[in-house]
Amino acid sequence: MMSWERSITLKTAHELEIMREAGKINAEALAAAKKAIRPGVTTADLDAAAAEVLRKHGAKAAFLGVPGAFPYPATTTISVNDEMVHGIPSPKRKLVEGDIVSIDCGTILDGFVADSAITCGVGEISEQAQRLMDVTEKSLYIGIEQCLPGNRTGDIGNAIETYVEGEGYHLTHEYTGHGVGRSMWEGPSVPNYGRPGRGVPLRAGMTLAIEPMVLIGTERTVVLADQWCVASADGSLTCHFEHSLAVTEAGPVILTLP
Ligand code: MG
Ligand code: MG
Repeated sequence: MMSWERSITLKTAHELEIMREAGKINAEALAAAKKAIRPGVTTADLDAAAAEVLRKHGAKAAFLGVPGAFPYPATTTISVNDEMVHGIPSPKRKLVEGDIVSIDCGTILDGFVADSAITCGVGEISEQAQRLMDVTEKSLYIGIEQCLPGNRTGDIGNAIETYVEGEGYHLTHEYTGHGVGRSMWEGPSVPNYGRPGRGVPLRAGMTLAIEPMVLIGTERTVVLADQWCVASADGSLTCHFEHSLAVTEAGPVILTLP
């Protein structure tokens, strides 16, 4: 997903209300996909469950048709185990007990976008996989806590990096969080690494998608043969959690909670 729009836009209270509605629909779509997870279902089945929620609400899928090697063909990206992001849902990809599945979804409502992702286990998962999921999800909230007016993007990245690397894991430097709102990718870029006090200053009314992508064995990634899916270079497990949020004087307001 390469088409970055670098402009930073501040949203009005009314625009934030629309984004919150989009965020609720996005959360419902992820919950529907999660509910469909069991051994034997395909990643296309999960995508269909999410797509049905968007259709029911009259919302559009933000990922559908995104330019790349070919236009992105689905509502969600679903990435299994070593696959980190941008996995294309497929009727041929059956989930098996012990897999971990990252589901990323974007919803457009009245011209505004909400973007969030979760990682879920299939049946019983390994302790190693559970710990990776716990650390990644916690790192998302550690990053969100830094989304305050006057802080900078480097404060967010540094907080995530310090925690995740302290737990012995790796973060990709090739994919980042981002501004979100009128477009799925607005400025600023929000890396999951950085130096405190550096980067773009945060202001009330900015809306950001924070999305740590954590790998067990390496920070290096590869793009698979389908030209979309990004996987760890060493085949080790990866994990991804994401929320869209608003920076406000009262602190960060997560827009993609149920
Ligand atoms: Mg996303
Ligand atoms: Mg995103």
